[in-house]
Amino acid sequence: MTAALLHMALRVEQDIFVVRQRGREVAAAVGLEHQDQVRIATALSEVARDLLRGTGGADVIFAVVTTADGRSHLRVDLVPVAPLPDGRYEPQSGAVARLVDTLSVVAGTEDTVVRMSRRVPLTAQTLTPERLAELRATLERTAPGTAEEELATQNAQLVTALDEVRSQRDELARLNEELEQTNQGVMALYHQLTDELEETNRGVVALYAELDEKSAQLRAASESKSRFLANVSHELRAPVTAVIGLARLLADSASDPLTAEQARQVGLIRSSASDLLALVNELLDLAKAESGRIEPNWAEVDLRALFGQLRGTLRAVRTEDEVELVVEDPPAPASLRSDEVLLAQVLRNLLHNGLKFTASGEVRLRAERRDGHWWLSVSDTGPGIAPELHERIFEEFYQVPGATRVNGTGLGLPYARRLVTLLGGTLELTSEPGRGSTFTVSLPVGGA
Ligand code: ADP
Repeated sequence: MTAALLHMALRVEQDIFVVRQRGREVAAAVGLEHQDQVRIATALSEVARDLLRGTGGADVIFAVVTTADGRSHLRVDLVPVAPLPDGRYEPQSGAVARLVDTLSVVAGTEDTVVRMSRRVPLTAQTLTPERLAELRATLERTAPGTAEEELATQNAQLVTALDEVRSQRDELARLNEELEQTNQGVMALYHQLTDELEETNRGVVALYAELDEKSAQLRAASESKSRFLANVSHELRAPVTAVIGLARLLADSASDPLTAEQARQVGLIRSSASDLLALVNELLDLAKAESGRIEPNWAEVDLRALFGQLRGTLRAVRTEDEVELVVEDPPAPASLRSDEVLLAQVLRNLLHNGLKFTASGEVRLRAERRDGHWWLSVSDTGPGIAPELHERIFEEFYQVPGATRVNGTGLGLPYARRLVTLLGGTLELTSEPGRGSTFTVSLPVGGA
């Protein structure tokens, strides 16, 4: 939408001042800021001078154009009285174009027109048709001043502009100074942070060194413990075996007959020595596993055959009549890459415990293949184990106090877990007192 505000003629030198003055007034009336008023007035007087000299004059039309998005522009069209040379116009001063948003030559209804425009700030965008009509009336009423008046105004504007430039320069110097100070502050902070970081780094390095030393000490301690256990148990095995042999000889019917009391005591010696031998053997196994001296013999293991073998051997061990041993057939294809002897040892150990601690119900071995793993579980209907002891029973020599503390050493589970780890798997327990226990061995199908 275009609303014309003022129409005037530019014919003589004197008119340039009038055009300039009216330009400023219109700019002020539509809400342009002071600086913008001076800009448009200056641009207008420059172009007016060019056209007066080039074409002998022009008609000047001020208008407000409002675009579809609701934005308004102040537009000034200068229609030259004679055609522009070559239909083109270049301002004498190149800076003129920079004073306004657009300055161009456009084709008018009859002739080419020099057109300039400047956007009205959003804060002044209340140019309703009524307001524009009011502005038009006001502008018509006010008579243009004289050239001297306009010159005085122009001078005053120049002084203000110079003042503004000076205060801007002062402001710039102040900002520069501030910036420099801030820079110094930032640099100081940076240095401080770098120092702190370096110090922290040194601390961390020292801590790591200490940690490495401690781990080395721990490793050494653990190794010497294993070596000690292996040596002691190895040395003990021969004499204990000899004691068992001698006791057997004493009790033999071919030897001199013993009194009933002597026979009972020899029996005690034999059973104690057998327990001791079992302990020594388990200690030796554990020490071997811990020192990494057990090398799994990797091969394809047929789980069905292994389960069948366990079913056979453990049937003989069964103690309680009310306990049923159930060994389920593993689902086909029931094979995995592992060490058959070590795996059998682990499962036998778990089944043995199940049978040992369960008074009635069943002990069940089952296999399940899932997520690239075999899950071999031994569950029983025994007394169960309190959650806070689930990890403790995997410690060496630990036995749950109370009823389940029947002839054992407390070495079976730590050994079983060691072996499962060697086979690349895990051994976990789920159990609750009164609800039985389930020990689950998980092994990757393809081996470690
Ligand atoms: P051991 O059987 O020689 O005592 P283990 O290391 O095999 O040693 O077991 C440690 C302890 O864990 C056992 O003494 C027993 O208290 C507890 N435990 C192991 N298996 C079971 C089970 N199936 N049910 C209840 N308690 C068990």
